Amino acid sequence: MTTIAILGAAGRMGQMLIRCAARLPELRVTGVCERAGHPALGQDAGQIAGIGALGVSLADTWPADADVVIDFTFHTAVAANLDCAVARRQAVVLGTTGLSDDEKQRVADAAKVIPIVWAPNFSLGVNLLLDLVRRAATVLGPAYDAEIVEMHHRLKKDAPSGTALGLAEALAAGRGVDLKAVATYGREGIVGERPRGEIGIHAVRGGDVVGDHTVLFATDGERVELAHKATSREAFANGALHAALWLRSKPAGLYSMRDVLGL
Ligand code: NAD
Repeated sequence: MTTIAILGAAGRMGQMLIRCAARLPELRVTGVCERAGHPALGQDAGQIAGIGALGVSLADTWPADADVVIDFTFHTAVAANLDCAVARRQAVVLGTTGLSDDEKQRVADAAKVIPIVWAPNFSLGVNLLLDLVRRAATVLGPAYDAEIVEMHHRLKKDAPSGTALGLAEALAAGRGVDLKAVATYGREGIVGERPRGEIGIHAVRGGDVVGDHTVLFATDGERVELAHKATSREAFANGALHAALWLRSKPAGLYSMRDVLGL
């Protein structure tokens, strides 16, 4: 039996994690946490997620008894959460996106002490897409103009999405270039002709879209498009719970969903 705690439990992903975890007999949710002052503090996790009482209340204190802590919160909360997990030697599944370079460094530092699975997207489909994009970038090369377009719901706070950035990294890796040197984020004004080798990244926001990502490779006479569309957060939640079970027995280190899925 693996015990887990969910940070950001009253959020969109948190609620889906509670619903999906309730279906897995090998997991037990022993902690559900939210930021101080959240209006749902003290309420039952199952009631918040719409599945009936589970006997675990939403708290603003650290879930010290969980084997694995799952973090789907906000980027500014991640460093302090990792400090708590490191102090108690708890494993972490980290799904929060929009991390700054400093915050990413904190993740790498914490992974020297505890095992962490960190993924901008926990779905099997997107992790397969990352592999396909890397291969397409290698085969097609810079003669094919590469652009990434993502769309998410109007409430999403970071842009571009962590998944779009992961796809851009995969693209750059497939071409053997440094993403920072070739990325352009949106375009406006007299930007001039498109430089060869540029990777364009574009964020669209609206409605309740869970997550659409398209990677385009365009050249004279043809275009290749690789796309993924999420229609529910279930794929992310099940992937994160699968990662939690996988992580329990692992030594300290920074793992990706590719490691978890054995891709
Ligand atoms: P949300 O705003 O619905 O939920 C986030 C929750 O975290 C909120 O309820 C908020 O009150 C809570 N929170 C903030 N700071 C906290 C803290 N210090 N301690 C505990 N709780 C805290 O957002 P969401 O749509 O659920 O997404 C959450 C994060 O997960 C975002 O960064 C999003 O981009 C990311 N995400 C990742 C994946 C993936 O597969 N990796 C999938 C979906 C969303």
